[in-house]
Amino acid sequence: MRIILLGPPGSGKGTQGDLVSRAFGFPRVSTGDILRQAVRDRTPLGLQAEAMMNQGALVSDDIVLELVRQRIAQPDCRRGYILDGFPRTVRQAEALEKTDSGRVELALEFQVDAEVLIQRLGARQVCPKCHAVYNLDIQPPRKPGSCDVCGVTLVRRKDDRPEVIAERLAVYGREAEPLRAFYVARESYAAIDASGSMAEVFDLVKAGVESVLSAAGSRPDGGRG
Ligand code: AMP
Repeated sequence: MRIILLGPPGSGKGTQGDLVSRAFGFPRVSTGDILRQAVRDRTPLGLQAEAMMNQGALVSDDIVLELVRQRIAQPDCRRGYILDGFPRTVRQAEALEKTDSGRVELALEFQVDAEVLIQRLGARQVCPKCHAVYNLDIQPPRKPGSCDVCGVTLVRRKDDRPEVIAERLAVYGREAEPLRAFYVARESYAAIDASGSMAEVFDLVKAGVESVLSAAGSRPDGGRG
């Protein structure tokens, strides 16, 4: 199965992706996390991507597609995977479909009002090591400034500055409609009200995944992948 988490920055894709990963055993593949790691490691690809990321612009489709192809070819993705932050364009969606066709698919779009997104991104801290995400207002770490999971000092993402947030939301707004239409046409699309608490949103996400899995299980081919 392939679960695609669509939605603007700050809509909770990372947090929910981790919960789905734990509940269903599919790895979460976040292109943002992979790119940030490449930037920290100063790899050639990271150096190429860094300027675009700091401005809130999209990294080139070719770079991102190659990263995703390599990642989903790993053995832990054989049964399924959760994509967080990918695809961001119809070209990426088409390439994904070609690369890994025939999978049962669910594209969930997280819908949240812009004011809530701006609040969430402004209060966000992340762990640079395990990528855990905290919100200083509603989900702070137990010890201020340290990751609950690995104890590493939490950081703010460079692209969570107000002017970059505005650009990221604008970029999302431009690509959202064609991507939505792409998955609606394939009947794999569902919208989720992602403005509630973490537990409330997870209930909705879980119900969506379970219904697709059970429909796939009753198909004659048993729902490959
Ligand atoms: P995210 O962590 O998903 O918010 O991504 C952070 C940044 O990484 C984005 O603002 C882009 O610069 C870049 N990025 C992540 N995923 C993609 C993608 N699928 N296509 C292009 N750029 C991406």
